Amino acid sequence: MAITKSIYIFIGPPGAGKGSLSQLCQDRLGWSQLSTGVLCRSHIDRQTEIGKKIDFAIKSGKLVDDALICNMVHEWLLEHSIALEKGLILDGFPRTVAQAQALREFIEDKLSDCQVNIVQLRISDQGVIQRLAGRIVCKNRDCQRVYSRNCDTVDESQKLDACVKCSSALIRRADDEKATIEKRLKTYYEHEGDLLNFFARSGLLVRSVDVDVALERVFKTFKEVVEANG
Ligand code: AMP
Repeated sequence: MAITKSIYIFIGPPGAGKGSLSQLCQDRLGWSQLSTGVLCRSHIDRQTEIGKKIDFAIKSGKLVDDALICNMVHEWLLEHSIALEKGLILDGFPRTVAQAQALREFIEDKLSDCQVNIVQLRISDQGVIQRLAGRIVCKNRDCQRVYSRNCDTVDESQKLDACVKCSSALIRRADDEKATIEKRLKTYYEHEGDLLNFFARSGLLVRSVDVDVALERVFKTFKEVVEANG
């Protein structure tokens, strides 16, 4: 079957800027983004049955159950298949080998005309801590746009007193506190190596982008990666 659709999987620690880069791709390239973190927080905010189950895991910086996350993603992909036409970023999924395996099977079964690209966002721990200290997000669960108080990543048009998209208040995420950040980073590095090995064994090329630089430069490098893919 001819390849007509592209999925970009962003791999990187919390605070690497997966959400910020995804937003630029949405704004400037017309791509779509599926962030499992956004989906999870939306469930918690709406107090759905899923939300009640995952609230504790998120607050304590742990991963949500693989089966639950995979079901959420598969349902979303079936409902939003149009999102794949231009380019879809998976931001924060898969995070474990079990999730990657389930995604591979789902794509082989339901989205076989899709090309999967892996992009690893590389950043130092120091960079992560700085980024997360400056991160604020839109409070509106249906928006959750990401902003940064760090000048080098702030778009000049952003005023940082309210969301530019929906005018809701901007807040700090509860799990961006220091102790939880440390747990989230530890969890990320526990899975990173296995995940990258899984992609390599699946014959998928992992491209790296240095994100310890200003967002505009990250976007430029990422676009070069996309163009190199044809
Ligand atoms: P994020 O917004 O990507 O930083 O995700 C916030 C939190 O949501 C994570 O710390 C996890 O608790 C949960 N989460 C998001 N994506 C996943 C995933 N793919 N697998 C397990 N838990 C996830």
